[in-house]
Amino acid sequence: MNVSMAILANRHSPASMRVPFNDLSIQWRAIADDVRRDFERIFADSAYCLGPACEAFEEEIAAWLGARHAIGVSSGTAALHLAAVVAGLGPGDEVLVPANTFIGSVWGVIYVGATPVLCDVHRATGTIDLKDARSRVTARTKAIIPVHLYGQPADMDGVMALAADHDLVVIEDAAQSIDASWAGRMTGTIGQLGCISFYPGKNLGAAGEGGLVVTDHAALAQRLRSLRNHGQRERYVHADLGFNYRMDGLQAVVLRHKLKLLAGWTSERKSLAEVYDRMLSGLPLELPKVVNQDHVWHLYVVRTPYRDALRNHLQARGIETGLHYPVPLHRQPCLARFASARLDFPETNRWANEGLTLPLFIGMTSNQQRHVVTAIREFFSKREDAPAVRLG
Ligand SMILES: *Cc1c(COP(=O)(O)O)cnc(C)c1O
Repeated sequence: MNVSMAILANRHSPASMRVPFNDLSIQWRAIADDVRRDFERIFADSAYCLGPACEAFEEEIAAWLGARHAIGVSSGTAALHLAAVVAGLGPGDEVLVPANTFIGSVWGVIYVGATPVLCDVHRATGTIDLKDARSRVTARTKAIIPVHLYGQPADMDGVMALAADHDLVVIEDAAQSIDASWAGRMTGTIGQLGCISFYPGKNLGAAGEGGLVVTDHAALAQRLRSLRNHGQRERYVHADLGFNYRMDGLQAVVLRHKLKLLAGWTSERKSLAEVYDRMLSGLPLELPKVVNQDHVWHLYVVRTPYRDALRNHLQARGIETGLHYPVPLHRQPCLARFASARLDFPETNRWANEGLTLPLFIGMTSNQQRHVVTAIREFFSKREDAPAVRLG
C-alpha cells in the first residue's frame, strides 16, 4: 500500500464507512464513452425499437451463450411469458416451479392460464428439489421451470431426467445466472427455452428493462420474434395474439458494451465470494455452498436464525443487506388460489426466514468487504447464546 492509499484507507475508517448493497455507477463508468458514442447513432437513425443494435446484440449474445437463437425482449418477465406461450401452455396445464424464487418466475405461467405447482428446494442450494418435484407430477404436468437461483445452476441432469420421464418442456429461468455453466453449457441453453433478465441489478444489466429468450429450435425462435412484435408475420398482418415486448435499441447498445466485460465481471464476483468464504469461516453462520458445478454470485446469501438482528446490526454500521426472498411463493396473496393440499415447504421457509444477502458487487473494495466481515464478527462475538468466536 503506498502512502496516499494508506491515507485514503484511514479516512474511510470502518466506523464511518458505508457499504451500499450495489453501486451500478461503477459499471457505467466502464462503458460510458462507448455508449455515448453509439447512442448518437441510435438517435440519428431513430432506431429506438429493435433495429440494427438489437440485431447485433442478439447475434453476439447467441454466440457468447452457444445458443442458435436469441430473441431480445423488454424484460425477463416478458421472456418467461413468451416462453410459456410458445411452449403451448394453457388452462389445465400444470407447471413445476420452485417456491423459493422471485415472483417473476411464475407470472408467465399464470398469464397463459396454466397452473403453477410449487415445489420445495434443496437445503444446500435453494434450487428446486427434484425429489419433491417428482412427487408433485400428475397427468396434467406439462412443463418445469428450474430457477438458477442466486447465480447457481439448478441440478440440470435431474431436471432433464424428470422432463424426459414425463415429457415435460423445460423453461430455464436464468434471470440470475448469466455466464454460469452446467456440464460445459451455459445456463439458459440446456432446456428447450431459456429466459434471461437484464434488469439493471442483474449480472448483465441494462439501463432500464430488458430480457432475452434463447432456444435452439428455429420454429420457436420465429414464433417468438413475431409474438414480441404484435404477432406480426408481415407488416400489419397479425396471425397470432401478439404482445409489445420489443427490446429498445438504446438498451441493446448498453448491453453490447457490457457483454464484452461480463466474463471479467464474473471472475470479480467469484473472487469477492472467495474472500467472504475465507473471512467468514468459523462463525456460527451458514455460508453459501457451491454444489451444482458453478456459481456466478448474483447474490451471496448466508443463513442464521439471528437474521433480523444481524441485519439491524449491519444497518447501524452503514452496511446495506438484502432479503431474497422473505415471502416465498406459497405465501404470496396473489397465488393463494393455487394453494395445494401439500403446502409443506420446510426448506423454502428456512431460506425465507434465515437468508441474508450480503453486498457483493462489481467495484466493491477490499476495505468495504473487510468492514462487512468485521461487523459480522463483532455481532457474533457479542451474542451470548451463539458459540464463542475469535475476533479478527
Ligand atoms: C429478475 C428476475 C425475473 C424477472 O425479470 P425482470 O427483467 O425483472 O422482469 C424472473 N425470475 C427471476 C429469478 C429473477 O431474478
